[in-house]
Amino acid sequence: MALITKAIRGTQDLLPNESYKQQYIEKQMLETAFNFGYKEIRTPVFEHTELFQRGVGDTTDVVQKEMYTFNDKGNRSITLRPEGTAGAVRSFLEHGLYNEPLPQKVCYLTSCYRYEKPQAGRLREFHQFGVECLGAAEPVADAELISLAQNIFDILQINNLHLEINSIGCPQCRQKYYDALKEYFKKYENELCETCRGRMERNPMRILDCKSPVCSGIAKDAPTILDYLCDDCKEHFEAVKGYLDIMEIPYTINPRIVRGLDYYTRTVFEFVSDEIGAQGTVCGGGRYDGLVEELGGSHIPSLGFAMGLERLMLLMEAQGTPFPEEQRPDLFIATMGEVATKKALALANELRYDGASVLYDIAGRSLKAQMKYANKLNAQYSMVLGEDEIVKGKATVKNMDTGDQEEISLEDFSENFMRMSINESMKDLQNTMGDGQGVDLSSLFGGMM
Ligand code: ATP
Ligand code: MG
Repeated sequence: MALITKAIRGTQDLLPNESYKQQYIEKQMLETAFNFGYKEIRTPVFEHTELFQRGVGDTTDVVQKEMYTFNDKGNRSITLRPEGTAGAVRSFLEHGLYNEPLPQKVCYLTSCYRYEKPQAGRLREFHQFGVECLGAAEPVADAELISLAQNIFDILQINNLHLEINSIGCPQCRQKYYDALKEYFKKYENELCETCRGRMERNPMRILDCKSPVCSGIAKDAPTILDYLCDDCKEHFEAVKGYLDIMEIPYTINPRIVRGLDYYTRTVFEFVSDEIGAQGTVCGGGRYDGLVEELGGSHIPSLGFAMGLERLMLLMEAQGTPFPEEQRPDLFIATMGEVATKKALALANELRYDGASVLYDIAGRSLKAQMKYANKLNAQYSMVLGEDEIVKGKATVKNMDTGDQEEISLEDFSENFMRMSINESMKDLQNTMGDGQGVDLSSLFGGMM
């Protein structure tokens, strides 16, 4: 086989035998977020470049080095979204959602694009689940946001993530802190990487986020923001910690966290794993009180987080996290001859209309090959349909797990089939209860119902 091309470096395909896991994760995320009052928002994959320049910040790695930016045929500069917050806030402003009761809570599952060096947990196209809470200044909002992330990890049964939090203050307290940082880094000016030298004047806090070992070595002993917080920011941070304590969410304070995007103020946090190598940050977020204004709105204090789905999946695989079983086809109809195929079309339609998953041969296979295929598909039941069955108006349905067979009428087939399979599930359930073991109701209501 000579492929004309392959997938772009740093991108991944999600294959059909794996997608149920992703669907499960995404469903849990959306449902949990819904329980916290979040509704889904979908925004375009590309935006005008200036949205990210202003929203994410000119001095960030994302804007300086990582964006997929190009001119379209109308010669406008377009960028594939590197993150989800800027687009969500743009949409919030454009559609006047600030006129609705605040806070507005929105969440999204999106693909993101960053031109980075591909490695484990670092891709050029990756996916995020993110939430944004727009219009909530109180520290209880920060704590609730963190508890939402924690809740998602708990529901997915992901363990051993540590929560690290910090406050990076407001522009006011940061002014004094910047001066202290500049004075500190001045001593090492010649050793810093070129990018960081550029950051010295404009945004010295960014240096703390530099991935170069030399810069991060120097940054280790830099003054910490916590010593420079103004009284309001200090009080806010103390309150956030107090609420986390009440919810018994463990955390450590890490004054080195500044996050990779410019818009953060006050609370920032990360959930970090040490089980998936260097790319251990699974979720990052915090407060961005200045962003809505930066993008042309009024002062609307807000906050949010994003978690990387690929890193989460790496972690779940490393931890052997259990996934629910993949849903199986309910029935495979093996057909012999054209008349049977025509009947199968009608029966399958009837069943599918009632919500069952039904497959039949569309590849002209022999009966033996069809049964082999039904096995591969892991169908719960199979049924052979030939002229005999059609003349008799009855066919034998076989439970592929137990080998049990039952003849059912092709008249009102869907109803008969459903009744039979529910009866079997009830029998299973009674057996399980007889064993004195826990009852998994999903086996009764899953699939068919
Ligand atoms: P890092 O420090 O690892 O580069 P970041 O600070 O750039 O992360 P954010 O912009 O806060 O990350 O994005 C939120 C989450 O999205 C990250 O915690 C991570 O799980 C995920 N993520 C970010 N960049 C990538 C990438 N290139 N590939 C895969 N996942 C990513
Ligand atoms: Mg990054």
